[in-house]
Amino acid sequence: MNTPVDYIIVGFGLAGLTFTEQLRKNNKSFIVISSLEKSSSIVAGGMYNPVILKRFTLAWEASGHLKTALPFYKELETYLQKSFLIPLPLYRILNSIEEQNNWHIATDKPSLSPYLDTQLIENKNKNITANYKFGVVTQSGRLKVKSLIQHYVKKLKQTKQFIAENFDYTALNHTTNSINYKNYTAKHLIFCEGFGMKNNPYFNYLPLKPSKGETITIVAPELNLEAIVKSGVFILPTAKKNEYLVGATYNWTDETWDATTTGKEQLQQKLEKFIICPYTIVKQAAGIRPTVKDRRPLLGQHPKHPNIYVLNGLGTRGVMVAPTVSKQLYDFIAFKKPLNTEIDIKRFL
Ligand SMILES: Cc1cc2nc3c(=O)[nH]c(=O)nc-3n(C[C@H](O)[C@H](O)[C@H](O)COP(=O)(O)OP(=O)(O)OC[C@H]3O[C@@H](n4cnc5c(N)ncnc54)[C@H](O)[C@@H]3O)c2cc1C
Repeated sequence: MNTPVDYIIVGFGLAGLTFTEQLRKNNKSFIVISSLEKSSSIVAGGMYNPVILKRFTLAWEASGHLKTALPFYKELETYLQKSFLIPLPLYRILNSIEEQNNWHIATDKPSLSPYLDTQLIENKNKNITANYKFGVVTQSGRLKVKSLIQHYVKKLKQTKQFIAENFDYTALNHTTNSINYKNYTAKHLIFCEGFGMKNNPYFNYLPLKPSKGETITIVAPELNLEAIVKSGVFILPTAKKNEYLVGATYNWTDETWDATTTGKEQLQQKLEKFIICPYTIVKQAAGIRPTVKDRRPLLGQHPKHPNIYVLNGLGTRGVMVAPTVSKQLYDFIAFKKPLNTEIDIKRFL
């Protein structure tokens, strides 16, 4: 006898986790099937920051995304009895008088003023080289994504709602009314596979592009940094004393998940342009961000199989974007609320 559930979710990175959370809050029954390897979320720095620091502009829908994301993760902290959100100011090293002026101009814009401090900060850290001042982004910080995923998986395993395996597409049978997969019968199937979607026969027609990213974790006892600093790369304090995450690289052609010497060297080169104290590399990690050519998420219903859906394309800002778009997909399925055309996969039909 098959176990009936409302939903089967395939993939448990930020996309799968945030969608699962919609189901939990709406008292829906579900089973999650996911490998935890080849996960972009697990290696992500977890930074949230509403501002594009190259051009001093607001990221796509950043105000709304941030307003949804922070309470969403706070609720998860309560549910899982663990802290995952670390608010941290973000210091952007300004490289010229012109950049300082541009920062001031940006702070005057109504869309940016809630996030950019008007006061530029003088560098007082002797281990950081900054010839001009710092511009400070407020309302930024870090989500401990790996820890969040691990704790959520643990909880799901306790209730037997998590199966750690690769989804076998050949074991899937479906009609317009029901989905059958191994011992489960469901009303809806949601694929949240990140870059793994490339192997999914239902959705591999969608234009997902690889954006491989690498990070290094360093220990730098003399650095004494309590903020995120951004120059060519970000450096973020982790939860451990004297430990920092440095990232990330961008490679648009490499589709392998392994960390590389080139990636490490690139990060070190950029880091050493603004950090002058000794450090030791204790870890290196790599992942593939699921990005889309128009830089918008991929949400919606399969064009031929109405009970099969996709939630993907979170790109470089999964932490901020995922809570909003997973709710939009849930509302679309449960309440038939139309999806915004900007994110609906119908745009690629
Ligand atoms: C180095 C790096 C740094 C980053 N830093 C940040 C950051 O600071 N802030 C930020 O917001 N974003 C960051 N990102 C981007 C962020 O990681 C992504 O936006 C987001 O994590 C994507 O989530 P996802 O759930 O779509 O995919 P993933 O996290 O890749 O999750 C997909 C999951 O599905 C599983 N899976 C796939 N196919 C199958 C299958 N067929 N069967 C079973 N399981 C399957 C995979 O094993 C994986 O666990 C970073 C990414 C990288 C690589």
